[in-house]
Amino acid sequence: MNRVLVTGGAGFLGSHLCDRLLADGHDVLCVDNFFTGSKRNVAHLLNHPYFELMRHDVTFPLYVEVDRIFNLACPASPVHYQHDPVQTTKTSVHGAINMLGLAKRVKARILQASTSEVYGDPEVHPQTEGYWGKVNPIGIRSCYDEGKRCAETLFFDYHRQHDLDVKVVRIFNTYGPRMHPNDGRVVSNFIVQALKGEDITIYGDGSQTRSFCYVDDLIEAFIRMMASERGFTGPVNIGNPVEHTMLQLAERVIALVGGKSKLVFRPLPADDPRQRQPDISLAKSKLGWQPKVALDDGLRETIAYFRQLLEA
Ligand code: NAD
Ligand code: UDP
Ligand code: UDP
Repeated sequence: MNRVLVTGGAGFLGSHLCDRLLADGHDVLCVDNFFTGSKRNVAHLLNHPYFELMRHDVTFPLYVEVDRIFNLACPASPVHYQHDPVQTTKTSVHGAINMLGLAKRVKARILQASTSEVYGDPEVHPQTEGYWGKVNPIGIRSCYDEGKRCAETLFFDYHRQHDLDVKVVRIFNTYGPRMHPNDGRVVSNFIVQALKGEDITIYGDGSQTRSFCYVDDLIEAFIRMMASERGFTGPVNIGNPVEHTMLQLAERVIALVGGKSKLVFRPLPADDPRQRQPDISLAKSKLGWQPKVALDDGLRETIAYFRQLLEA
């Protein structure tokens, strides 16, 4: 049994990770400031003897004793991370410094939830880990992109300078139950709109692409990365390489939900990446991992979750 800290543990991915770690027999400390996460996401765990929930903002120091750290704290949806962009950068940068300082003191292995956004609006397709990215340093997405890039820098400098045992995963768009209904991300938006019979909002002409990974596949990759050999730091891409345009996604959601929603077109937000698809060769070879859940199956699970939430 390990004592595992999950920052951002009351969020979408963090709460699924807490579930999995407890199921695997670990002792879990979930730290969250509830900015985008919710106590509801972990309510079912509160009576578990090996689960502890702590309200804390990772931009402030944290003194606890743990063996493993998953650093997920950071709003992930553009609507949320742009709401208070200065806090977003602080969360990524000061949060990384504090968690790395903690890992250094207690000699814990630490994993950073980085993002495909470090590639920005990529000129290389699909994206391999060796690509350095095309990121606007002063745009409205920069607080997130540059914050996450700086966090990666800190992870590798703590590794080189203090021999810290670090792991970095670059997560591509992931979806599933417990996404926030007002999260603003495309999968939750389309599903909630379809379930309410509202128009589906396509930003731009809908020809931009993303590759969508179901949450269970992603959590499996987290677990494998944390358990990987000490010398393997990453960064490693984690995502589903099957690429879709936003028009194709809307069509799948409408087909699975049913109803009469129409497509409406809205302006494309600034710096919105044109296309995004992970090259997952490294994850395959180093972690023996690849996603298993097909888009339609994952969408069905996610639709069932939102249907229940909206009816409650
Ligand atoms: P989320 O918004 O549901 O979860 C983030 C959690 O972090 C929330 O519970 C939030 O309250 C918490 N948080 C935010 N700022 C904090 C702070 N200063 N101190 C403590 N807690 C704080 O988003 P998610 O999709 O679960 O994302 C989790 C992580 O994975 C994030 O770091 C995100 O950047 C990364 N990621 C996610 C995706 C995706 O598609 N879901 C893609 C790339 C990267
Ligand atoms: N820190 C923390 N918990 C710990 C140890 C450190 O939150 O258990 C924070 C502390 O705020 C510190 C930061 O991590 O400023 C970086 O720690 P490090 O030891 O690298 O640097 P220093 O203490 O010299 O600033
Ligand atoms: N998008 C859309 N309609 C929406 C929400 C998002 O067409 O209601 C588009 C958005 O412009 C982007 C893609 O869907 O091109 C994915 O957006 P999301 O916010 O989910 O993630 P990210 O842009 O960070 O990959």
